Formats: sequence, structure tokens, C-alpha cells
Amino acid sequence: MVTITCADCGQQRERCSRQAKRCLPCCDKRQRMQTKQSIARRKAGIPPRQLMTHDQRWQSFAMRAVMFAKSVGALPDLDKGNIECVDCDAAAECYDHRDYARPLDVSPVCMGCNARRGSACIPEPYIEQPKRKAA
Ligand SMILES: [Zn+2]
Ligand SMILES: [Zn+2]
Repeated sequence: MVTITCADCGQQRERCSRQAKRCLPCCDKRQRMQTKQSIARRKAGIPPRQLMTHDQRWQSFAMRAVMFAKSVGALPDLDKGNIECVDCDAAAECYDHRDYARPLDVSPVCMGCNARRGSACIPEPYIEQPKRKAA
């Protein structure tokens, strides 16, 4: 668990991810508001706005891949606390990505080591290179 300062109500709250910007009640409120807004937009014929940045989309893709792998038993569940952090001897609490392009290439780490490891490599968007003329 990490303590974050909620961006909406300014309160110090415990969250499981240091990426969390808001406390759970505020997250909830926001999600409900966004759902309402997106329904209203859809009704008005306005296409849904891109809510996530490039980096966030990679993060959520990688997170969902790990969740899926856990659900089918390809990765052990860390909730039991019987898996050790690969960097220290503490119980691993989450899976750390080093490269979001390889979403299942993860190491079980504790929260402290996860923070020390910093963020994973985020693939750049594909940019079409101008074709080189044949010599
Ligand atoms: Zn809040
Ligand atoms: Zn550790």
C-alpha cells in the first residue's frame, strides 16, 4: 500500500498503486460521472474522447494482460503472500513490468522494490519512415 494525496478532495489515502491520483470514493464518483458523460455524448452523436494518454493505454494493456494471466493460472496469484520479491526477501505484492511491449515478461516484487525500479519502458508509436530511394 502507498499513501497518496487525492487530487480531488486533497485527503491522504491508502491506495494499492502509486499511479493512483485519487482516493477510492473520488475515483468512483469520477467514473460514474464519466460514464454519464459518455452516454450523453454517444446520444448526441459525439464520438468518445480519448480519455487515456499513450502511456496510460500501455499501462492498462500490460495490467490487463497480467490480470488475465493470473485468472487462467499462468501467473501465480500474489495475494497469498507466498511468493518472494525478486529484489529482496519480502513478500511480492505486484508484478513489475520492465517493458510494456512484453506485458507478460514480469517479475514479482514488493511495493518498495517496485517503486525503486521506476517505470517500465513504453513503446513509441510507430512512425512511418520515408522510403529511401534505391541507389
Ligand atoms: Zn478523494
Ligand atoms: Zn522487494
